[in-house]
Amino acid sequence: MKPMGTIPPFFAASGDNLIIDGKAATQFIDIAGNTPLFVYDFSVVAKKIARLRAAMPAALGVHYAVKANPFAPLLQAIAPLVDGFDIASAGELAHVAGYAPGRPISFAGPGKRDAELSAALIAGTTLNCESEGEVTRTLHLAERHGVTPRLAVRVNPPFELRGSGMKMGGRASPFGVDADRVPALVRRLIAAGAEWRGFHVFAGSQSLDTAGIIETQAAALALAGALADAAGAAPPLVNLGGGFGVPYFAGDTEVDVEAVGSALGDAMTSLSPSLHATRFVLELGRWLVAECGVYLTRIVDIKQSRGEVFLITDGGLHHQLAASGNFGTVVRRNYPLAVANRMASAPLQVVSVVGCLCTPLDRLGDQAALPPAQVGDVIAVFMAGAYGRTASPENFLGHPAAAELLAGTGQQS
Ligand SMILES: *Cc1c(COP(=O)(O)O)cnc(C)c1O
Repeated sequence: MKPMGTIPPFFAASGDNLIIDGKAATQFIDIAGNTPLFVYDFSVVAKKIARLRAAMPAALGVHYAVKANPFAPLLQAIAPLVDGFDIASAGELAHVAGYAPGRPISFAGPGKRDAELSAALIAGTTLNCESEGEVTRTLHLAERHGVTPRLAVRVNPPFELRGSGMKMGGRASPFGVDADRVPALVRRLIAAGAEWRGFHVFAGSQSLDTAGIIETQAAALALAGALADAAGAAPPLVNLGGGFGVPYFAGDTEVDVEAVGSALGDAMTSLSPSLHATRFVLELGRWLVAECGVYLTRIVDIKQSRGEVFLITDGGLHHQLAASGNFGTVVRRNYPLAVANRMASAPLQVVSVVGCLCTPLDRLGDQAALPPAQVGDVIAVFMAGAYGRTASPENFLGHPAAAELLAGTGQQS
């Protein structure tokens, strides 16, 4: 038997049924008309944002990184609760503009094409510039369109986010401009007439290391101060990135955001003078939305092979790649799972839960202890709200897309 992660505390059972936003999970399947299905409970997102706001210094802005989950009803619901959006493509720009119009937007990502830069410039988006070459192209395009570009410089910091599953600093990187070259670039874009928006520092993703996050944020503030001094210009904005992790696996513990917030508050009292008028923001994806999502998939077949039991479902890695261990994890471990219609039964059977794809990679649970299940039962895979459907190879093998539903907004879903 192999351990599973812990079911997020936002979900409870009533008798045999897993409850999501006051309803049996299986009722959402009736609403959607089929499995597989993602259900997102927005009340979980609202609670996370409220907790974050209470923990962080009052002046700190909170942005949502759209790529974690771009489901349109989720964007509409989250828009009033955040101070802006961070996007990573012109596709996301158009998507956010459609569903949450008029919100501040910043655009990061290497390899922005001219058409994407043009769309962002015309929309007044802040571009987090990833290279000197990108700045050159952007300045030309801005002139052609007759607009003043809003440019921030993404810094490739000389440090990385400790404990991070995906490191994005402290090394040669396609992201951002190496810190030692940043002051010259800032001077250049200001001299060219751009509206300089400040710095963007994003050092890694999925860190559960509270002390590491605190250290990284302090280092980012110190770096922003030093770069501003060297550039001779005060940044209007410093974007401290995202990267707060969530507990997916057995033994994981959550980030102590209250400790992070109080340390950040302390660090903000001893800022370099060049940052005294600066506004600071966090741009979080995963931490805000991962726990709100539950992926529901139905058991199609149960088989035994060489003494092992396989629950074969109608879902799989084409919808929920991360749970199969093939997105950003080195060693495959089990996400929290449940049999959504047998919550009152004891976990007496060790089973592997697999998807319907013809690849041994398609494993949603590996030798996990679950209640004895039957064909037609529903498996719930938790922690499916971030980097789920959007980060999965949906077209692989030609099965239908998973449905998505937003619950927990106080409206009928
Ligand atoms: C992906 C991304 C984020 C969000 O990261 P999380 O780990 O989901 O918080 C934030 N900023 C940028 C620039 C990103 O690319």
